[in-house]
Amino acid sequence: MKAASKADLYRKLPSVDELVHNTELASLVSREGQAAATDSARAVLARLRDEITSGRLDAGGIEIALSGIASAVERELRQSLSYSLRTVINATGVILHTNLGRAPLTASVVQHIHEVAGNYSNLEFEIDKGVRGRRDIHVDRLFRKLLSEELAGAGAGTHDVSTIVVNNNAAAVLLALNTLAEGGEVIVSRGELVEIGREVGTTNRTRLTDYESAITDKTRLLLRVHRSNFQITGFTEQPRIEELVSLARKRNIPLLEDLGSGALIDLRSVGVNDEPGVLESLRSGVEVVTYSGDKLLGGPQAGILSGRSNLIARMRANSLFRALRVDKLTYAALEATLLAYVKHDHDAIPVLRMMRLSKDEIGKRAKTIAEKIRRPGLSVRVMAGESVIGGGAAPSAVLPTTLLAITSKTRSADELAARLRASAPPIIARVEDAQVLLDLRTVFPEQDETVAVALQEI
Ligand SMILES: *Cc1c(COP(=O)(O)O)cnc(C)c1O
Repeated sequence: MKAASKADLYRKLPSVDELVHNTELASLVSREGQAAATDSARAVLARLRDEITSGRLDAGGIEIALSGIASAVERELRQSLSYSLRTVINATGVILHTNLGRAPLTASVVQHIHEVAGNYSNLEFEIDKGVRGRRDIHVDRLFRKLLSEELAGAGAGTHDVSTIVVNNNAAAVLLALNTLAEGGEVIVSRGELVEIGREVGTTNRTRLTDYESAITDKTRLLLRVHRSNFQITGFTEQPRIEELVSLARKRNIPLLEDLGSGALIDLRSVGVNDEPGVLESLRSGVEVVTYSGDKLLGGPQAGILSGRSNLIARMRANSLFRALRVDKLTYAALEATLLAYVKHDHDAIPVLRMMRLSKDEIGKRAKTIAEKIRRPGLSVRVMAGESVIGGGAAPSAVLPTTLLAITSKTRSADELAARLRASAPPIIARVEDAQVLLDLRTVFPEQDETVAVALQEI
């Protein structure tokens, strides 16, 4: 397109003022106010100017755009006044999907957040004595039941375990390193990602002797990091955690394990074998473990440090702890989630419930949906597949599932997936091998009907 004709197109656009005084917008302006309407008119005009500049809008296109300009302003205004953070239906089968907010919380947890958020609370107040209290006691008491009492009960002869909570696991590792290794050295295997510390060994093999010979009088800490986002296969070697524990004890250096996901129950029951649990790690003698609140634990975003009480007390006394502390909403969510564990009510925790679903249960629901879809040109098949735990659980951790596979005679898989994302609420699916795959493992059963309707109307 020639530059002159672009200038003609720009001239066809009304001014912001003309647009706001467009009679079609009169009721919108009186309802939402002149200022809000002006902002939206400005945004719509800027978009049209961009489209002219980039050549996407020609003389024919601009006539169409101008005829719908009042409703575009109205839409813009409605959108600018609605939430940006919205719920979606996760049909990817990735249980801990970081982009989709990781662990969803159950109703009792949301209820506790709701009550604490809308009221004053005893966050840092001892009601019986009328004096200032500590915010961490609300969850430390439950962690004691779940960790110390379990360890004592198992006769593990283990130290007294206490727990503190910070904003996320990255912050937990930061606090631990800053407290235990400030000014000194941390020894970590080269195979365990991280950019901190003094590396030992090679990417695929690190022997106990590699750790041992790296220790100097500056060494403050041995760090073990769970390989959560990648896997090293083949010819690998890594000392067992017990070996690291005895080395740490012999040299009198604390051992910190960053578990990443940190399961509070044994996941072997659901077929996940290589995910070290919090109890397992503490039982083998690791002094401090760090883990996320919103991964396998199934709670809110948080970084949790559990370990020997004297070390945890040093971390609490670190001024960084104040900067990394979490608010009452997180404590409420974590307390309610932990209470479900204390009651052994694991099905109350959505991520645990999802992990425990069998492929047959999921298959039944998939079939019910498939049978409802009658749409010429659209094929809906039920097939075997795999769900992924995700969120930095063992990368190999997959669960057998049943998938809905959708293809269309007239639209590509990417187009179908985009249409599902455009439904309300948006449905997020996987695209693989030129088909759209929906895994109901991560879809709440009460959302099945919504998924069926969206597929029917795709
Ligand atoms: C996920 C993960 C982290 C980061 O945890 P956040 O809670 O997201 O900060 C750190 N280390 C490991 C090993 C992880 O898996």
